[in-house]
This record gives sequence, structure tokens and C-alpha cells, in this order.
Amino acid sequence: MSARRPYLAANWKMQKTVEEAEDFIDRFLEGLGEPGDRDVVICPPFTALQSAVERCRGSAVRVAAQNMHEVESGAFTGEISAPMLTALGVDAVILGHSERRGYFAETDDAVSRKVPVALDAGLEPILCVGESDSEREAEETEAVLERQITSDLAEVSDDRLAGVVIAYEPIWAIGTGKTATPQQAEEAIGFIRSLIARRDEGAAAAIRILYGGSVKPDNAAELMGLEEIDGALVGGASLDPADFLAIVRST
Ligand code: PEP
Repeated sequence: MSARRPYLAANWKMQKTVEEAEDFIDRFLEGLGEPGDRDVVICPPFTALQSAVERCRGSAVRVAAQNMHEVESGAFTGEISAPMLTALGVDAVILGHSERRGYFAETDDAVSRKVPVALDAGLEPILCVGESDSEREAEETEAVLERQITSDLAEVSDDRLAGVVIAYEPIWAIGTGKTATPQQAEEAIGFIRSLIARRDEGAAAAIRILYGGSVKPDNAAELMGLEEIDGALVGGASLDPADFLAIVRST
């Protein structure tokens, strides 16, 4: 773990009703106490955002959405815009998660339009990138990361890069129980940081880059202890308050 402020985010995906979200937050906040020098973020589904914001008010925990549309308003059935999120008091938004890219055909082009819109709205973008199993097998990991980072951040000026949080999430490690080895995670995140450094050294030193992919209470400490890894985006293990608490405490 570096000197950058650790960042721990819980991605609940399409899980938890409002009542279940409130129950999680009550139990989580009770166990968390004062989290110290770390960012702790919960990303509930859209339907639970408002109650999560209300439940977390006055605590150190912030709330993020899992996606948004880049246009402010209009004929986009089923979509949610940045002003809709900020009006609820949401602080951040996950963009370009591999499940959005894979199941909903979200392209780098679309992600590149969303990132600056989120920043303009005052939402902290949590930008997800990562290679598939076959891309890693074919030794294309760096090419994939370079394409995603170059394209997804193309519309963000250098002076705003450090306001983005990047999550390196190898697709083969998401929800599979297969975690990247510390060396794989460290190498990929170091490579992402070097891509940011090509644009701006200061931004590269400041930007938080998380690891995501089957992070659990029993592997979090090792991953979070690495120099390049600034925190975690956690899926499955973030559904249980005790597990997510253990991961937050491992930093
Ligand atoms: C994710 O979906 O962002 C994720 C990291 O999931 P999991 O922790 O379940 O692999």
C-alpha cells in the first residue's frame, strides 16, 4: 500500500432491495466506527441509492451508483443521468464495469463520453478496465489496458486525471474465485500507472488504482499490502457486512 489514501468500494451489482441495503448499512456502520484515513464507498443498485445516501449521512461512508448515461436528460428509456444522481446526494459512479461492457455492449467510446460528464457533475468516476482470460492467454493484457485507458480517458484533461479512480479488474477474476496473483495485479496496475505517467507524472503519482476480482477477507491484506495497489473494488464479498468490514480493516 502506498502513501495514497486507500479506497475500498463495495459493488453490490443487481443485489439487495431497499430493506436489505438498509440492514447492511446499519450493521456495517455499527462495526466500522471511525474508518480513519481511507475512503469507503458503497455502490448499491439504483433503487437503493436514495436510502443508502440517507442512511450513510453523517458517517464516513460515501455512496456511488453503478452506471450512468452521459446525456443530462432525454429519450433514453431505462437510463439514469448524472444530475439525477447528484440530486440524490450520490458521490461517485462506477463506469465501464466489465459486466456493462460484456452484457450490455458498452464500448470504450461510450465510457470516454461518460467519464468527463461525471467529473463535470462532481461525481467521482470509478473507471473499470481489465482483460479477459483469452486476452491474458494471448499475452495481450498490456495492449488491452493501453487501449482502454487511452480511449476511456481521452476526453479528460491532464489536470483532472487524478480525480478519477481506476479499478483494474481482470475479467477472469470477477466472481470466479480466481484472484490475480499479487505479482499479476502489481504488474498490471504498475503498467496502468505508467500509462497515466506518459500524460502527467503528477497525476500518475496521485491517482488511486484499485484491484478488483474475487477479493475476500482472507486475501485482501496481501493484495492491499502491495506498493501499487491503492484499494479494492469488491463484488461478492461486499454483500456481507462482516466480510466487507474485514476487507476495509485489512488496509
Ligand atoms: C466486481 O464485480 O467488481 C468484482 C470485483 O466482483 P467479485 O469481487 O465478486 O469478483
